[in-house]
Amino acid sequence: MAITYLDHAATTPMRPAAVDAMLPFLSERFANPSGSHRFARDARRAIDEARDQVAEVLGVGPGEVVFTGCGTESDNTAILGVGGLAVCGAAEHHAVLHPTEQHGGIVVDADSTGHIDLDRLDAALTPDVAIVSVMAVNNEVGTITDLSAVSRLVRSRVPGALLHTDAVQAACWLDLRQIAPLVDLMSFSAHKFGGPKGVGVLTVRDGVRLAPLISGGGQERERRSGTHNVAGIVALTSALVETDRERAGEIVRLAGLRDRLVDGLSNSVDGVVETVPRDRKIAGSAHVCLDGIESESLLFLLDEADVCASAASACASGAMEPSHVLAAMGVERSLALGALRLTLGHTTTIADVDRAIDVVADSVVRLRRGAVPPR
Ligand code: PLP
Repeated sequence: MAITYLDHAATTPMRPAAVDAMLPFLSERFANPSGSHRFARDARRAIDEARDQVAEVLGVGPGEVVFTGCGTESDNTAILGVGGLAVCGAAEHHAVLHPTEQHGGIVVDADSTGHIDLDRLDAALTPDVAIVSVMAVNNEVGTITDLSAVSRLVRSRVPGALLHTDAVQAACWLDLRQIAPLVDLMSFSAHKFGGPKGVGVLTVRDGVRLAPLISGGGQERERRSGTHNVAGIVALTSALVETDRERAGEIVRLAGLRDRLVDGLSNSVDGVVETVPRDRKIAGSAHVCLDGIESESLLFLLDEADVCASAASACASGAMEPSHVLAAMGVERSLALGALRLTLGHTTTIADVDRAIDVVADSVVRLRRGAVPPR
């Protein structure tokens, strides 16, 4: 039985074109792009071309693209590299929340959809704020942030502050060229859009001063030292270009599949509560809370049936506490403990969706009958 993979927010299968793009750089084109020989120049040219293509898709200049080791590093670099007082939303990924909290920053509440509360953000914007970080798309519940509204607010209240967006979950769903003019820094991670794990991007608007998190050889114009991950960067670029090209069609296709999935669950299972209205979120996100069900037990049964899903974000799953995102949204604890996140992506088919409906419905019946699986 093939795996039914509905966990694209955790990571995506690599796009075949991205695998093909990286292979030569793992074998015959292995040179260090910082070297001075012809062989090194070949690798450097590959990075230069990748940077141009990434810049085009992200709507920034090539000099504004910094290749990093992952989305977490991009987020940390933005917040710690800018330094000073940071403000972020309570529903942010821990890659933003932790550096903000650890350096005495301010965390602003979310509303019931997981969107940052704009009135509370307004109140937090004092003149000493150096950086505001608000995610473009929430990784757990799929809520899309109104970045135009956030940008207007931040620019008008604290003209000197920088605005960063964690766009790690946005690449498949939003036209990034429209986000770029609204913010000063953006974070991305290749494995969320069909590229490999362990490579990311931070865009840094020209003129923004950033203290590097990692210093050494001075790569990436001193903003991120370390020998370039040439294969990863080339594969990230291939995946990003393909994602950008297919985005409009995929949104329509996957919104249809997502609606079929959520409607199918609602029709076959009692007590399904959709966490966020569909018009406030990305097409690939189906997040529901199942009344009276414990996510952990449900995930166990889904796993047994080869359905890959998740309860909260990948790093937090396994914990019995409701996720910090659902807590920030004010979802009742008993309901939040029954959270189920099914996320769709470029490999998702109608067969995946129909099988997931059957398996979830069957598992919920078993759990409600008291068939609690052994742990
Ligand atoms: N930010 C968001 C919104 C994410 O979903 C993730 C990954 O789950 C990250 C940051 C971290 O990215 P990476 O896994 O590349 O470190």
